[in-house]
Amino acid sequence: PKQAEEILRSPICCIMGHVDAGKTKLLDFVRGTNVQEGEAGFITQQIGATYFPAENIRERTKELKADAKLKVPGLLVIDTSSHESFTNLRSRGSGLCDIAILVVDIMEGLKPQTIESLNLLKMRNTKFIVVLNKVDRLYGWKMCRNAPIVKALKQQSKDVQNQFNMKLIQIITQFKEQGFNTELYYKNKEMGEIFSIVPTSAVSGEGIPDLLLLLVQWTQKTMVEKLTFSNEVQVCFVLLSCLGTYLHHKEIKAAQGIKITAQGLEHAIAGTGLYVVGPDDDVEDVKEAAMEDMKSVMNRIDKTGEGVYVQASTLGSLEALLEFLKSPDVKIPVSGIGIGPVHKKDVMKASVMLEKKKEFATILAFDVKVTPEAHELSKELGVKIFIDDVIYHLFDQFKIYICNLKE
Ligand code: GDP
Repeated sequence: PKQAEEILRSPICCIMGHVDAGKTKLLDFVRGTNVQEGEAGFITQQIGATYFPAENIRERTKELKADAKLKVPGLLVIDTSSHESFTNLRSRGSGLCDIAILVVDIMEGLKPQTIESLNLLKMRNTKFIVVLNKVDRLYGWKMCRNAPIVKALKQQSKDVQNQFNMKLIQIITQFKEQGFNTELYYKNKEMGEIFSIVPTSAVSGEGIPDLLLLLVQWTQKTMVEKLTFSNEVQVCFVLLSCLGTYLHHKEIKAAQGIKITAQGLEHAIAGTGLYVVGPDDDVEDVKEAAMEDMKSVMNRIDKTGEGVYVQASTLGSLEALLEFLKSPDVKIPVSGIGIGPVHKKDVMKASVMLEKKKEFATILAFDVKVTPEAHELSKELGVKIFIDDVIYHLFDQFKIYICNLKE
């Protein structure tokens, strides 16, 4: 195992799901338990990410008596807002996240945001594990702190077990309606084809050992090539810009979240790659490679110059939105794009359409804020701004708006 540990890097995992499903609580729970600083297996919170060393995972999954070896050195979980982290996955495969956790509240089932996440996962062809959270909210649930889920379920009354099975069947059906086959992970014989469900409680920890073990085992089994170390900076993404304290690193080994300081970084775009200029590299070539990301997005803009203005939080989320607008049953042309909050300048740009096609004097703002000045100006000029964090809600709003205009 020592040798293997040196070869594979830690898988990177994103957490997604609807608001209040328990994403934050789940991470807090996994992060918060029983390991003291300085002990082997200390969990470190990094910039926008948490690192769980393999020793920690081994310790916490003991009860599952997994005979398989842990080959990865640990697990890096990205904990920025779900949209930002996930849409950084990017469309061309070489994304930030190796695997995603999709959190669903067992009492609520699938919600619009869950379906949105599913669509993005499908588009990116990203593997994911479904976490069916809040099992402790089943009426009469008997708490079994940190227990593997099968053990916890066995402790429950017949009535609780029935409630659980009914919810499970409902949710599996909802997934099927979205075109995904899912199954309880310990009954899933076709991992990859069928997505695994892990029931958990982020309050008392049932099912958490199962989740940790499944994440590690699945990634190291099916993603060996992706997880093999190389000496180059391979996939390195700008997550977000932030201020605060800096640590000095002598060496960085993947996968790790770090802060970088440099001149001009305020212009860095979240979701783009980080490139390293080696001794034999031509700076201009590297610059060109770095701009490729932007170019591919710019190419999506309608050549006629007529279309709506689109604004999103990261390059990845912008790509996702553009891909959606381009799809056959949507087909909304785009004349301009922006990343980050909607500013006055964006409203100005969108207002150009007022002369050409009034309905296109519209900004579709996905998962971003609108500055008060921009809001003011939009009202003054008659530029319509739609804001939402679900892509197809933006589309629905825009559709209704167009219909009303026509009438
Ligand atoms: P997020 O929006 O997905 O990050 O959801 P949060 O982690 O903020 O959780 C939303 C609410 O649900 C909070 O009040 C949590 O305390 C609660 N919650 C989260 N997970 C669980 C769980 O497993 N069981 C119970 N009973 N409550 C939970």
